[in-house]
Amino acid sequence: MTIERLTPGSDLQAYPPAERWDDWPEYDVKQWPRRVEKRYMLVPTICFNCEAACGLLAYVDKQTMRVRKFEGNPLHPASRGRNCAKGPATINQINDPERILYPLRRAGGRGEGKWRRVSWDEVLDEIGGRIRKAFLDGRRNEVMYHVGRPGHERVMDRILKAWRIDGHNSHTNVCSASARLGYALWSGYDRPSPDHANARFILLLSSHLEAGHYFNPHAQRIIDGKLAGAKLAVMDPRLSNTASMADYWLPTYPGSEAAVLLAMAQVILDEGLADLEYVEAWTNWRQYMADAHPGEEPTFASFLAALKQHYRDYTPAFAEAESGVPRDKIVEVARLIGRARGAFASHVWRGTASGNLGGWQVARALQLLTVLTASMGTRGGTSPHGWNKYKPVFWEEPPGQKEWNELLFPKEWPLSHYEMSFLLPHFLKEGRGKLDVYFTRVYNPVWTNPDGLTWMEVLRDESLVGLHAALTPTWSETAAFADFVLPMGHSGERHDIQSQETQSGRWVSFRQPVLRAARERLGESHRYTYETNPGEVWEEDEFWIELSWRIDPDGSQGIRRWFESPYKPGEKLTVSEYYQWIFENAVPGLPEAAAKDGRTPLEYMRRYGAFLIEKDVHGLDRKSVAVPPDAQTDPATGIVSAGGKAVGVKVGEEVVAGFPTPSRKLEIFSRTLKDWGWPEEAMPGYIRSHVHRAEMDPVKGEMMLLPTFRLPTLIHTRSGNAKYLNEISHRNPLWIHTEDAERLGIVTGALVRVTTEIGHFVNRAWVTESIAPGVVACSHHLGRWRLHEGEGSRWSSPRVSITRQGDGWLVRQLEGLGPFESPDPDSSRIWWSDGGVHQNLTFPVHPDPVSGMHCWHQKVVVSRARPGEDRYGDVFADTNRSMQVYREWLAKARPGPGPGGLRRPLWLDRPLRPADEMFRV
Ligand code: SF4
Repeated sequence: MTIERLTPGSDLQAYPPAERWDDWPEYDVKQWPRRVEKRYMLVPTICFNCEAACGLLAYVDKQTMRVRKFEGNPLHPASRGRNCAKGPATINQINDPERILYPLRRAGGRGEGKWRRVSWDEVLDEIGGRIRKAFLDGRRNEVMYHVGRPGHERVMDRILKAWRIDGHNSHTNVCSASARLGYALWSGYDRPSPDHANARFILLLSSHLEAGHYFNPHAQRIIDGKLAGAKLAVMDPRLSNTASMADYWLPTYPGSEAAVLLAMAQVILDEGLADLEYVEAWTNWRQYMADAHPGEEPTFASFLAALKQHYRDYTPAFAEAESGVPRDKIVEVARLIGRARGAFASHVWRGTASGNLGGWQVARALQLLTVLTASMGTRGGTSPHGWNKYKPVFWEEPPGQKEWNELLFPKEWPLSHYEMSFLLPHFLKEGRGKLDVYFTRVYNPVWTNPDGLTWMEVLRDESLVGLHAALTPTWSETAAFADFVLPMGHSGERHDIQSQETQSGRWVSFRQPVLRAARERLGESHRYTYETNPGEVWEEDEFWIELSWRIDPDGSQGIRRWFESPYKPGEKLTVSEYYQWIFENAVPGLPEAAAKDGRTPLEYMRRYGAFLIEKDVHGLDRKSVAVPPDAQTDPATGIVSAGGKAVGVKVGEEVVAGFPTPSRKLEIFSRTLKDWGWPEEAMPGYIRSHVHRAEMDPVKGEMMLLPTFRLPTLIHTRSGNAKYLNEISHRNPLWIHTEDAERLGIVTGALVRVTTEIGHFVNRAWVTESIAPGVVACSHHLGRWRLHEGEGSRWSSPRVSITRQGDGWLVRQLEGLGPFESPDPDSSRIWWSDGGVHQNLTFPVHPDPVSGMHCWHQKVVVSRARPGEDRYGDVFADTNRSMQVYREWLAKARPGPGPGGLRRPLWLDRPLRPADEMFRV
């Protein structure tokens, strides 16, 4: 094919065909109108700019061997060649003239902004030696890895288990832990996988078409579903872009969503729309009857009567009063959901679940609709995520660690779904422990988490955090308080396996360093990825292998052996061998597909970047299981066990897989909640939020702040140095309803002060009818800052000062954004001066007493800014007051241990699961 044939009217191709990826011609756009041909090698990789793992194709200029651009990979089964704006912006991140290219070590006090370049050897020797000493001293709980964006599958679990530490911390409790707990309590799987493309009715409790979980792949399939006739409803207090595309917009008052969902359940039950056969066969209703109605006959008919009685108060009128959504609309949508029987797809991820006290019950209430309509795991329904996600296995798995770190899973939150990550500084301040080596990895808690100034105080304190190493591809507000800043690769500069539950299928994709792959196609051989990356940018796989060898140089600690080659015993594992083994041995169907293509499995993945393992995965719960001869069946529950472990459940006459719950069924009644101190929440329910209208004092002018939505064009931290994205989005005004604005005398563009429990921020107003009265909203992902020159991106981050003011800290912008000189001529063309306003610093922590999730929504007072005192972008927070609020929420928790002296139910997983005996106190 020649360039001339790629013209309209001939056989225009949407994407370069894979057989031409070694040599692809395109005209150089900068030479237009001259037709100057450039030749490219196209190398697949995976986007790292959100969790969705869409495919990218790097265009490597064959003359310069530099990446010219990133476009979509048409062979990726989830993204199918399409990306959001953040995918192609990877090129900005790679070419940013201000990116970190060499390891840095602080040369002054923490946070003073003084740095010197060091060698990787110095880094590895110092950190490795310090960890070795901590291990030899028996201080394993003082080593912690804290991750923001993972972007890989299971690799860190294996590393930390090999180190035998309980040291995995994540960002999940400021993100999705609440919804995850709700889902896990139903089915044992903590995420839903809606089959949007085949649904008859889709209900979204967040803005999935523009920003929600697995945004681009899901958005494609929601539109596929709509084009095939599905109706779409969106529950969102904001008129988001997603809501604007919906057939039904349900603008619920924040936190009232579970009330609306339960009212819908009532309509479905009352109007005979529920699939009762399914409910009878697949829920643990017998357990509910035995527990809640022990005197009654345990028939399904009596259960049904009890169920209706249980939800009798959740009428559409009640839901209207709570949510503000008219009851007729609630009934209409409920009927459509009921009639979609077997093909009701839904999702709640962050949004209301992460905003509100008891948000995990929203996921429970939503799943109730899935179960009533028999849409669990069906074509067009909602499957458990585990059916649609690939997880690699390794040639050898280290055993579960014999440690339990109470800084991660403290006794107060025995059911917390993930680590109590955002309370780490509060725990350290309280004297619950200390850290000797603390890794933050693509994680920016000072800026991302609530109460970031408490994080700053703790990170400055060397008696609490002995050594802080920030592994990051870009500068961040947290890296400014590190001892080492270690540059790690962007998506085209590292290896990872990723797979997500984006559709009713299972796929695996391969992130790879594209320049290394391109050079290897030309016959070069490279031992390390940093040989082809810019500067001395490493990839983390190689960092952890090297570090593990330095922790245990002679193998005497039993660590090094896990980082030896599966092909050459005793030799150091290479990153190619790591992926070679997985692709050869642990991806069903890949070796055969590769052989058909005349390649090894690794060559196949390097060439195409992704592999579809299976499509149309449904009904795995109903799959027959082989019953071992020594198996026993419990006559009361139907659970079939062998060797002390459940292997299936009897449904009718058949033994099928069921779900990984204690009952092997869908748990409409949670014995776990009852046994662990929450009997009143054992059924899907509605918990009034901490920002319920009844909590607001109108005399004080209190309103509800919704701070959880994001713009589709921004990433948390990593978009800071993406010039395309900052040009598109660089301000985040406060949405305020017309009526509220009139009452307060506020017009669009006016400066307003938003006062929280611990401080305030100053922003401009946007007066709109796209938000409910009494609610204000402000998007996150903006309001970046840099404390010192060279410590942040000038595309996005105004320089600030952070100074003491009374019992708190004042963050004040010293100068806005503007043009600057750099090797990139675009930096002198910056026309915007605004970088938005930060808000999270002014939020105290609100740990939900059950899920442990930070409840993001805030009770605030909005007023006009104070002349002469307030400046745009000001942020003030009182960290003493924030510790008080922490203690107020701590008092809501109901500590363990639970039944049998357990710290946590054995059946509830943990991200890095210790040995079972560690669950006991
Ligand atoms: S949705 Fe956008 S940011 Fe997320 S992986 Fe896909 S292209 Fe990247």
